[in-house]
Amino acid sequence: MPVPVPDVLPSPTQQLAPLTTLRLGGPAQRLVEATSADAVVQAVRDADAAGEPLLLLGGGSNVVISDDGWPGTVVHVAHTGRVVERQPDGTVLLTVEAGADWDEVVAATVADGLGGLECLSGIPGRTGATPVQNVGAYGVEVADLLVDVDLYDRRTGAMRLHVPAAELGLAYRTSVLKGRDDAVVLRVRFALPGTGASAPVRYPELARTLGVETGGQVPAAVAREAVLDLRRRKGMVLDAGDHDTWSAGSFFTNPVLPETDAPPDAPRFPAGLGGVKVPAAWLIEQAGFRRGHPGPGGRVALSAKHVLALTNRGGGTTAELLALAREVRDGVSSRWGVALSPEPVLVGCAV
Ligand SMILES: Cc1cc2nc3c(=O)[nH]c(=O)nc-3n(C[C@H](O)[C@H](O)[C@H](O)COP(=O)(O)OP(=O)(O)OC[C@H]3O[C@@H](n4cnc5c(N)ncnc54)[C@H](O)[C@@H]3O)c2cc1C
Repeated sequence: MPVPVPDVLPSPTQQLAPLTTLRLGGPAQRLVEATSADAVVQAVRDADAAGEPLLLLGGGSNVVISDDGWPGTVVHVAHTGRVVERQPDGTVLLTVEAGADWDEVVAATVADGLGGLECLSGIPGRTGATPVQNVGAYGVEVADLLVDVDLYDRRTGAMRLHVPAAELGLAYRTSVLKGRDDAVVLRVRFALPGTGASAPVRYPELARTLGVETGGQVPAAVAREAVLDLRRRKGMVLDAGDHDTWSAGSFFTNPVLPETDAPPDAPRFPAGLGGVKVPAAWLIEQAGFRRGHPGPGGRVALSAKHVLALTNRGGGTTAELLALAREVRDGVSSRWGVALSPEPVLVGCAV
């Protein structure tokens, strides 16, 4: 039987794997590089009018895309720009276009002598995605500084300007925007305190590294360097030459459990309403998984620096990565009775 040939073969430029930090995922039927907010909205309107499935893509650092790719339009959000406005009360309003590289934004604020975002240094991806999962690290999350966002609402076809952060349902690694794709973030605004001091250092490991008490402050530039250093040691700063960074960051969120359900020896942090947050990395290690644990075929593996990152060692597939994710999830479930949930958005696939 002859193999049916599709009418339109994906060109190499429609491959999605190179647009993701995992370097995984098949081709898109159509890929639009949108370098202005108007171009983003137009591309989304065109896809919706044609009834094509739509995938919004920023830096591709929090997605796991099926080996089959995407059967519709992918809009690569790529418009950049940033405006810094000092307010009469001395605070600073920072407005950033959705396609701006997040770490470049953080680096620029620190270089401008503005503290607040430094604990979010070294996180890959683009600014428009930061409210989507309420990006957070080292004791700071986007919700702490976010004022509002400008959105294109696909349900109504209308722009919604200055949607307050309070309407986004920002919570631990989630928001009403995550996994929905019915609202397109075009622009994000943050309020920064307007001084060069870091945010109060809440994360004990960072406080120890900086030699300050928890809650103390240091120059933002000093905190940024310390955060980058800690992140590099865990393989959490992108480095094309280091397969430990070919990941989607933490693959599982830290589960929030009733205090009585947490394993007795597990580290825990208060999570409100009598719940505690237990590090997924601890549960994974104590279930017997070691750093570097290989998946089927050995082309995917747990990072050699951190068990919470699932990595592509080169030539892996999404199917192999998901098989490894299932092995880890099931191992933790049978050892601890705790169900781990994936943190990245799974596109056309499931764990
Ligand atoms: C090495 C590494 C370290 C990481 N460390 C952290 C960390 O410390 N803390 C943390 O929170 N995350 C971390 N991440 C995850 C990731 O970097 C963040 O979630 C980041 O904000 C994703 O941005 P992105 O542009 O790559 O989004 P993408 O992966 O492109 O998209 C993620 C989701 O957001 C949607 N989306 C993207 N852009 C828009 C838009 N403009 N409007 C609406 N929806 C949109 C997509 O459709 C998708 O559903 C890490 C990832 C890696 C690879």
